[in-house]
Amino acid sequence: MHELTIAAEIADLVTENAMKEGVLLVTAVHIEVGAFSGVDVDSLAFALELSVKDTIMEKAVIQITRVSGEAECRACGTVFALEDLFMASCPGCGSTGFHLLSGRQLRLLSVEISS
Ligand SMILES: [Zn+2]
Repeated sequence: MHELTIAAEIADLVTENAMKEGVLLVTAVHIEVGAFSGVDVDSLAFALELSVKDTIMEKAVIQITRVSGEAECRACGTVFALEDLFMASCPGCGSTGFHLLSGRQLRLLSVEISS
């Protein structure tokens, strides 16, 4: 389950930087997961719960937002939200030729602290 690896990396990144800054407590962390990132939100949430044990993130509210992908139609240039790579067609012209603009990202959006 690669969510465990990702969760450990996020926990390390946040705690290392927080400690460098003299932060005593991380109160909230907001993570954005693209629909095509290959990351399962529930698994990641569970893995994070394990990864933050005994760290300054232990009590943090972890918010994970799953965002749909965004695609651009090759035929007419319409940009549209994409939930499924293999079931999509352009809402503008019905073409199934498009390229992915976003949806693969896994991003740490914000970290809230209390010092
Ligand atoms: Zn189109």
